[in-house]
Amino acid sequence: MPSQEASKKLPTPERFAALSRVGVALLSELNEERLLHLIAEAACEITGATFAAFTLRPVSETGQPLVPSEGSFFYLAAIVGVTKEQETFFRHMSLGGEGLLAPIFRHGVSVRVDDVHDHQDPNHHKQAKGQERITAQGLASAYAQGKLPASQLHSMGVPHGHPIMRSFLGAPLLDRDRQVRGGLLLGHALAGQFTAEDELLLTGLASQAAVALENGRLYRAAQIQAQELQVIFDSSADGITLVDSAGQIVRENRAAQRLHQQLQQEADGANTFEQLLFAPARLALQAQTEQQYSVSFQQDGETHDYLVTASPLRPPPDAGTLQLGKQAAPKNITGAVVAWHEVTEIRRLLSIQRKQAETEGRLAQLQLILDELPSSVYLVRGPDARLVLANRATTGIWGAQWRPGQPLQDFLEQQHIRIFAPDGNPLPFERMATMRAVQHGETVYHHQQVIRQPDGSNLPVLVNAVALDLHSLDITVPSGSLHTSDQPSWAALVVHQDVSALKEAEQLKDDFIGIAAHELRTPLAVLKGFAQTLIVQTARQQGPELADWQMEALMSIDQATIRLVELTDDLLDVSRLQAGRLTLHPTYFDLVSLTQRVLTRFQTTTAHHHLALQTDAEHLVAHADQVRMEQVLSNLLSNAIKYSPNGGPVQLRLTCDDANTILSIQDNGIGIPQEQQVYIFGRFARAENARMHGIKGTGLGLYLCRELVEQQGGRIWFESTEGKGTTFYLSLPSIVEDTEDEL
Ligand code: ATP
Ligand code: MG
Repeated sequence: MPSQEASKKLPTPERFAALSRVGVALLSELNEERLLHLIAEAACEITGATFAAFTLRPVSETGQPLVPSEGSFFYLAAIVGVTKEQETFFRHMSLGGEGLLAPIFRHGVSVRVDDVHDHQDPNHHKQAKGQERITAQGLASAYAQGKLPASQLHSMGVPHGHPIMRSFLGAPLLDRDRQVRGGLLLGHALAGQFTAEDELLLTGLASQAAVALENGRLYRAAQIQAQELQVIFDSSADGITLVDSAGQIVRENRAAQRLHQQLQQEADGANTFEQLLFAPARLALQAQTEQQYSVSFQQDGETHDYLVTASPLRPPPDAGTLQLGKQAAPKNITGAVVAWHEVTEIRRLLSIQRKQAETEGRLAQLQLILDELPSSVYLVRGPDARLVLANRATTGIWGAQWRPGQPLQDFLEQQHIRIFAPDGNPLPFERMATMRAVQHGETVYHHQQVIRQPDGSNLPVLVNAVALDLHSLDITVPSGSLHTSDQPSWAALVVHQDVSALKEAEQLKDDFIGIAAHELRTPLAVLKGFAQTLIVQTARQQGPELADWQMEALMSIDQATIRLVELTDDLLDVSRLQAGRLTLHPTYFDLVSLTQRVLTRFQTTTAHHHLALQTDAEHLVAHADQVRMEQVLSNLLSNAIKYSPNGGPVQLRLTCDDANTILSIQDNGIGIPQEQQVYIFGRFARAENARMHGIKGTGLGLYLCRELVEQQGGRIWFESTEGKGTTFYLSLPSIVEDTEDEL
């Protein structure tokens, strides 16, 4: 119950004790409500007030007032010395901005009144409410400026329910900026209870309370900030470690802890950690400035790149002034903060980007060069031969634009382009040089094809397709990496050469050879006929006897004519083959007797060669053009003799199995040099050593042999060592037994 007795003021020593209690509370109590309550209680105790109330002005988190400095906006923060009902009354009461409270709330000055009754405005009832307020405000302002004594202030009266109050003492709570933060209001039921000393004490207490409130707010704000910083610190993907000036780890965030633990499990981890943390920290402490390094190390077999920043840690600039009563701390470096930013991925991406840019640059350069080439050049990849890049001439070769990324088959079908073999038959898609290269890694040279372009025109081309292993290439193209999987994967560099001009020239040459050979046949037949007649008739003594030299000349003419007839026959065969007009007349015949006959004929032409036939079979039936087979055997035997200038054995062997009949002709002659062996079946192809030995020939024999044998379902090949000899093999399909009956 509020006391109505005269104020029980504490004697001076107790007052000091109470004040020092408040001082301790101000330093230690962080709960705002408890603190204010304590101050209110101490204020009552010291001044002997019957009740004390604390009102506060609402402020923002940063301490900025949210409402005007008027009592009606303030709230009751603590109250002592009142009943429960009175406390409820106070909580709902608007304190108002006028009267005795106005100087405190509006102007931040204290008010001490001996007897509230004496301050009732005598004209209270006569004045309108508005006018009364203006008067009160004016008085409060004058009082705050020191132009009016407190005794002249008007009270607006004590509302009903308010504890009885004759003495009143109120002091404002002022913050650092001297803004009113609240008011500490004391009352007593008797008049004349508060002294000037009380007023001074209360003002001091109020300002201490203001400081304590502000400190509390700062402390809370600092705590929130510290919490926020802790969350940021821990959630940072970069590792952050605090090291003290002695180089000891003080704190590390989660990322740093993780890295630290991982490195502890590595063999060379301690060394790496030294490079990552301690060395940069030491340097930052020594240099007293921020340091930045790039550190790379191996972990789990991978290279990790880190950007390490080490910054010296200084105490805040005014730390000294905050530590009251102590000497300001020397502004020495207290430690270092080391932050690790992993840049492995960024480096990797950058290097890929750089590589890609380089590749693109190279490709652009390559494109420029390729575009200037007269032949079509393109690069395809993958088993379906998707286009990677092509030069300008490629469009000319196909007669259509092939877009990058499109598979070859798609392109051909879309553009109605067809591919033919030189013999005019459609070329199966998978037999195209490009497809052989990308599907089987085969490198194909000089593949002849005819392209039927979308407009129907035919273009003969010579194709070279070079297979490239994608895994060893390691190049990227704008449409992505050339690599697709670990499967063997091929790319192909394909060059198409337009050979229509060559074809045309070849055609002209073939036509010419054909016509020339044909036209030579008649005069040759006449020459041969007359030479033979002369020889035969002279032998029969049908005319004058010829001198030996005349007979010799006649024999030479006859030999030369025979050679010329053979040559023109060969040339005619070549031109027929080229034109696809060579017709064959297969029959069944005995290969053993044919071989024996040809052998006998050739044995008569040479004395230093010994020709022998070895076979287990008495008869071997073949189904082929007998005349053409004799031509083939003749060329092979004539070669064996011709290219063994020192004579020696020429061994013929005839063998037969279920599938093939094989004839081999082995000589011990000059052999065919290794590097020329691939060309030897070509037209007019002759080995260098044959020319060196001065052995004559046209280089048509083997070409005709191969064409004739292959057209009859057979095969021809050879083995040869230069200087040692050559063996030619000829195989024909075997004839099944019962066909003998048909003979
Ligand atoms: P021809 O058209 O008159 O037959 P040729 O004999 O020179 O002339 P081919 O029979 O086609 O032509 O042979 C081509 C070349 O192969 C020869 O010039 C020779 O260099 C080489 N050659 C062929 N057979 C043999 C062999 N048995 N030993 C060594 N070289 C040979
Ligand atoms: Mg020959």
